[in-house]
Amino acid sequence: MSFHFEVLKTDPSGARLGRLTTPHGVIETPAFMPVGTAGTVKGLTHEALEELGAGLLLANTYHLYLRPGHELIARLGGLHQFMAWRGGLLTDSGGYQVFSLAKLRKVTEEGVRFRSHLDGSEHMLTPEKAIEIQRALGSDIGMVLDECIEYPATRERAREAVERTLDWARRSRAAIDGGAPSASNPEQVFFAIAQGSTFAELRRENAQRLVELDFPGYAVGGMAVGEPHELTCEMTGEATNCLPADRPRYLMGVGKPEQLADYVRCGIDMMDCVLPTRNARNGYLFTRQGPLHITNARFADDARPVDEACGCVACRRYSRAYMRHLFQAHEMLGAILNTHHNLYFYLDIMRSIREAIASEDLPRFSSELQAQLGAGQH
Ligand SMILES: [Zn+2]
Repeated sequence: MSFHFEVLKTDPSGARLGRLTTPHGVIETPAFMPVGTAGTVKGLTHEALEELGAGLLLANTYHLYLRPGHELIARLGGLHQFMAWRGGLLTDSGGYQVFSLAKLRKVTEEGVRFRSHLDGSEHMLTPEKAIEIQRALGSDIGMVLDECIEYPATRERAREAVERTLDWARRSRAAIDGGAPSASNPEQVFFAIAQGSTFAELRRENAQRLVELDFPGYAVGGMAVGEPHELTCEMTGEATNCLPADRPRYLMGVGKPEQLADYVRCGIDMMDCVLPTRNARNGYLFTRQGPLHITNARFADDARPVDEACGCVACRRYSRAYMRHLFQAHEMLGAILNTHHNLYFYLDIMRSIREAIASEDLPRFSSELQAQLGAGQH
């Protein structure tokens, strides 16, 4: 199967129901991608992920490049083969982690020089290197290197990052067209990333100029970095309005469950976020009645499931009391069940969003979801 995207239906808000075909399966969109940082979604087996219906995982290039190394993964047949994952894989460029995790980073026209957060070793990530690493990994979708900046940023700083992001996208385009395709996944494609901070004209301009480079998909980056939710939506809408309707659009690093439908209404087809998995490991569970902290003493003798309306394996079988006990006793099973529940919750919302678009009912679904989730806490 080669890469292909079709929009099946668009609702008046701009929300799209679609189908993304990758060399490793077909993904119904809008889709949420669980984060599998080091080639694993922490706490879940691949069997569990398959059962949850996760068709596309995100893996982090920065982490895999540093450990165990992209060349080792290539020798072992690419990332799919290495981690024995049959579904779709998207890799980021490594840029975001370099900007957020690495030490002593220095951005120049050429790329980003940084020290590993693991052993202090020095590395240089350039647009060409990001393509080379991701080709070695052989993900289905790779991302080009962009410059992520802090929030808030001045217009001058945002302008500079947009110019650099565009220059790096041009160099990435040349590296993609000029080099040999991935040995393990020759059908791999790369998406470009539009930046522009919180400046509408920069968001529009960056998106338009990237479209001229003709990528098979586009991401909106540098959002949900501390700005108000309304501004995230506004800026995302500015960017998606300038992107071609027949290409998938990926909003990176979002979001809270009650916000997912808002992003879909901005014309977004793909999202990823660490919230469901990271929060699960901290005992923070999402439910249709608002968040639940499993550590709360009130749950010590509560025989009810975490969420009575949830169909996940944790809620079908285990009580709040048991889940709380596991967490308090630092038992591995606690994090495993919590992660299972939170991912089920996210993927279930995405299923409901797709159904709502199909039945032309997204605005009602969206406001009901917000009312429900924002209603309060357990
Ligand atoms: Zn559940």
